[in-house]
Amino acid sequence: MRKKVLVLGANFGGLTAALAVRHELDGDVDVTVVSASDQFLFNPSLIWLPFGKRDSADITFPVAPTLESHGIEFIHAAATGLDPVAKKVTIDGGRELGYDYLVIATGYRNKDDVVPGFKENANTITTLPAAERAAVAWRRYLDRPGDIVIAASQGAGCFGAAYEFLFNTAYQLRKAGLHKQVKLTYVTAEPFLGHFGIGGLPHGEQLLGMFLRKEGIDARISTGIDHIDQGAMVLADGEKLPFRFSMVVPPFLGQRFLAGANGMADEKGYIAVRDTYQSEKYDDVYAVGVAAAVDAPWQTPTPVGVPKTGFPTEEMAHTAAANIAAQIRGEEPTHKKAFGDIKAVCVMDAGNNGVIILADKMLPPRKHGVLIPGPQAHLMKLGFEKYFLWKMRHGYVQLP
Ligand SMILES: Cc1cc2nc3c(=O)[nH]c(=O)nc-3n(C[C@H](O)[C@H](O)[C@H](O)COP(=O)(O)OP(=O)(O)OC[C@H]3O[C@@H](n4cnc5c(N)ncnc54)[C@H](O)[C@@H]3O)c2cc1C
Repeated sequence: MRKKVLVLGANFGGLTAALAVRHELDGDVDVTVVSASDQFLFNPSLIWLPFGKRDSADITFPVAPTLESHGIEFIHAAATGLDPVAKKVTIDGGRELGYDYLVIATGYRNKDDVVPGFKENANTITTLPAAERAAVAWRRYLDRPGDIVIAASQGAGCFGAAYEFLFNTAYQLRKAGLHKQVKLTYVTAEPFLGHFGIGGLPHGEQLLGMFLRKEGIDARISTGIDHIDQGAMVLADGEKLPFRFSMVVPPFLGQRFLAGANGMADEKGYIAVRDTYQSEKYDDVYAVGVAAAVDAPWQTPTPVGVPKTGFPTEEMAHTAAANIAAQIRGEEPTHKKAFGDIKAVCVMDAGNNGVIILADKMLPPRKHGVLIPGPQAHLMKLGFEKYFLWKMRHGYVQLP
């Protein structure tokens, strides 16, 4: 009997894991992917949607043809329940799916209640519908410009997106001839500029400080948000920052159905995993990408999360796939890659400029870390988007 691998989610983690496990076993395995969305979404380009530089068609593609051409079944549905003892997943409509091995790659949802007024009075860009709403708000803003506040709230981890949106906003203001009259403020939970939720990199604080000064951006560092009113953000220390447009990156949470999965998920809804990406509790359940819990080796005055970015998500998915293939062959799952030891590879876009971020490890202590600023970073980001969408659409997940 061929073994059954069930993968939940079809984005960076899910698509990679599903295709990689088929390749590892030369097709001698039944793989099914269940995903709430039938589209792959290149989330890193969401930063450009509000400014009309991309629309949803530019940064998505349907996953069914990709999966089916590799002999993988696709079911467009959300998982609503998981019983790891019975080895069953319930999906929309109540259907139950059994598995021999399960990969949870269901990513994140926004913590909408992070501060009162976040959902009602601020924009965000962390999901496609939210970025589309932010695009409408930005067009309205241009008719009636005024001050802008961009924030990464307490508990947020996706600081790269906040910085990218901040610098892209500054670039757009300059293009619209508004940069002298608009007060642009960055509010962040980070203990210092350029912490990025990964503890910072050499010279990062100075470099980010220089970028902010160059654009005339004011910053409030190591601060939380108390609440957001219509047209004003009130910080934890009581300071009130009026705005005509705002964008806030909130903390992320795991998907709701995982809370009922026999104690596998932590209080944020993430699955505790070993370095093999097997869950702590079950040898046949894996979690990769944002769905996997990651511990930060520090405490900050205002809480910050750890960004589980695209590259580590792919690495986790490949590690999980190699281990599942080993288990199916009757071997031990010996492939290990601790999250903190995965390389950090990222590009922070700044409109027509940017910073390439490279480090030997996601989390300190590190031997090497470097930030390379310049216009080539922007060009790299543009090229990478096209390359990555091509690679995933064709299912070439073995490529870098
Ligand atoms: C604005 C923004 C900018 C970013 N920029 C960068 C960047 O520049 N570089 C970088 O490396 N990373 C970046 N990231 C991070 C990157 O997007 C994540 O690392 C990546 O999306 C994680 O992939 P994932 O598969 O774990 O989760 P997700 O991308 O969240 O995918 C989750 C999948 O699960 C599905 N799903 C959800 N719920 C269910 C359910 N109940 N049942 C079944 N399926 C479900 C979803 O439909 C989706 O297919 C950015 C993120 C954001 C939000």
